[in-house]
Amino acid sequence: MDNCIFCKIIKGEIPSAKIYEDDEVLAILDISQATRGHTLVISKEHHPNFLATPKEIMHKVMDVAQRIGQAQMAVLGAKGINILTNVGEEAGQTIMHYHVHVVPRYTRDTGFQITLKENNSDKNNLPALADQIKSKL
Ligand code: 5GP
Ligand code: ZN
Repeated sequence: MDNCIFCKIIKGEIPSAKIYEDDEVLAILDISQATRGHTLVISKEHHPNFLATPKEIMHKVMDVAQRIGQAQMAVLGAKGINILTNVGEEAGQTIMHYHVHVVPRYTRDTGFQITLKENNSDKNNLPALADQIKSKL
């Protein structure tokens, strides 16, 4: 894709701090470090997001995300890890090329916050909601 920042990084047209590379996957440090070591694991093929990526490629990206998380825990002294992939602008996706954030967490970091607040009027009818989602599986 001509105007995709990640495609340009993959082609070497934009520099990046590389952590891992194979035929299908590239992992680089995020230019905006939410926490120390914040990494992006990117599929080399351009797919718009997690949901639109062929399963084999999605799995390869997740394999690398797991390895990077293990390395961050081992060498950076991270106490936890958040794995995050945004799908769609409403979910905060800004680069429409599938990638996974691997965000190491430390005792006093404040750069990354995620809050899951209860906020759904269907809460009293969860079986019906479950059936609705199930109907498309
Ligand atoms: P999204 O919001 O789409 O899930 O995440 C996109 C991420 O890409 C952001 O965290 C942003 O900081 C990062 N990013 C944007 N441009 C560049 C770049 O040129 N180089 C690197 N390494 N990261 C970038
Ligand atoms: Zn791309």
